Amino acid sequence: MERKYAEFAATKACELLAIDSPSGYTQKAAMWVKEAFEALGFAAKITTKGGVLADLGGADKDDALFLQAHTDTLGAMVAEIKANGRLKLTPLGGLRAENAETENVRVHTRTGKIIEGTVQLCNASVHVNGEYGEAKRTFDTVEAVLDEDVKTAEETRALGTEVGDIVCLEPRTRITSSGYIKSRFLDDKLSVGVLLGLAKYLHDTGKTPARRVYAHVTVYEEVGHGGSGSVPSGVTESISVDMGCVGDGLTCTEKQVSICVKDSGGPYSYEVVGKLIDAAKKEGADYTLDVYPHYGSDVEATLRAGFDIRHGLIGPGVYASHGYERGHLDGVEHTLRVLKGYLGV
Ligand SMILES: [Zn+2]
Repeated sequence: MERKYAEFAATKACELLAIDSPSGYTQKAAMWVKEAFEALGFAAKITTKGGVLADLGGADKDDALFLQAHTDTLGAMVAEIKANGRLKLTPLGGLRAENAETENVRVHTRTGKIIEGTVQLCNASVHVNGEYGEAKRTFDTVEAVLDEDVKTAEETRALGTEVGDIVCLEPRTRITSSGYIKSRFLDDKLSVGVLLGLAKYLHDTGKTPARRVYAHVTVYEEVGHGGSGSVPSGVTESISVDMGCVGDGLTCTEKQVSICVKDSGGPYSYEVVGKLIDAAKKEGADYTLDVYPHYGSDVEATLRAGFDIRHGLIGPGVYASHGYERGHLDGVEHTLRVLKGYLGV
C-alpha cells in the first residue's frame, strides 16, 4: 500500500471536515460521501436513514464484509433563546462544554441562514468575573454569543434563529509538514477518508476482493445507533473503522493503527481480532492492541440491532479525542494496510 493512498485519504478527510455534519444534520456530508465513492467507480446510495451504502465489489455475496465508518460528528443544538439574546445549547453526542468553550460556531437556521458566534463561559471577561477560574464548565454555564447586534430574545428570533437550530463548531483542520493531522472531528472523518483511500486503491489496481465488501458510512454513531441498520443480506462480518484511542495506559500512538480488543461494549470477536492481527503482520502494518475504557462503536450497534455477525474495530490513533484531535499520516497508512491485508487484495 503506497503512501499516496494515505495522502489521498487525508485529502478527502479534509474536504469532508469542511462540511458541517453533527448527528442529525448530515444530509450534505452524506451526499458528498456518496459522490466520492461514485467518482471512484463504485455504486453508492443514500439509505433511508440517511447514511451511505457503497458496494466495493467482490464475488462471494454469502460471506460479505461490512466496513463501517461515520460521518456524523459532535455538535450542539439551540435549546433555548435566552432573555439576553444569547443561546443556551444542548450537546449532540458527547460534546463537552470544556472542549467547546471559546470555539467559533456556525448556527444553521431552518430559514437557511448561517449565523456566526462563539461558545463562551457566561460572563466571560476575566477582568470582570472574579469566579472565572472556579466556574465549572457545563452547558448551563456556557452559552453561544452571536456576532450580531442582539440583546433580547426577540431580536435573536428576528434573525431567523429558533430552538432546534444546529450549532457547528469550527474544526480548525490543518496538516503539518511533519505529517500530523489536527482537527476536531477526525473521529471519524479521518476513517471515512480511509475507506475512500481503500476504494481508490481498488479502483487504481483493478483488484477485486474474494468476498463482497460493502462500505457503510453511518450518520448517527455519536448518538449510539449509527450501525443499527442498512446491513445487506449475506454480511457475516463487520469491522468498524473508527478512531483508535491514544492516552495513558494504552500503547497506541498517532503513527500507528490500533486494533481494539475490548471496549465498553465488551470484547470484540476473538476470531476477527486474530485475523486483523494476521493482516497487519502480512502487510507490515505498525499495529497495537488496546482496551478502550470509554468507547462504543457502530458494529456494536449492529449487533444490538440483532444482526448475526462477527465484529472488529480498527482505526488510526487519534489523541485528544472529542476535543481538538490529532492523528498522523502514518496511522492512516497503517490502517489502510490492515484493510488491504484483511481483504486479501
Ligand atoms: Zn467515532
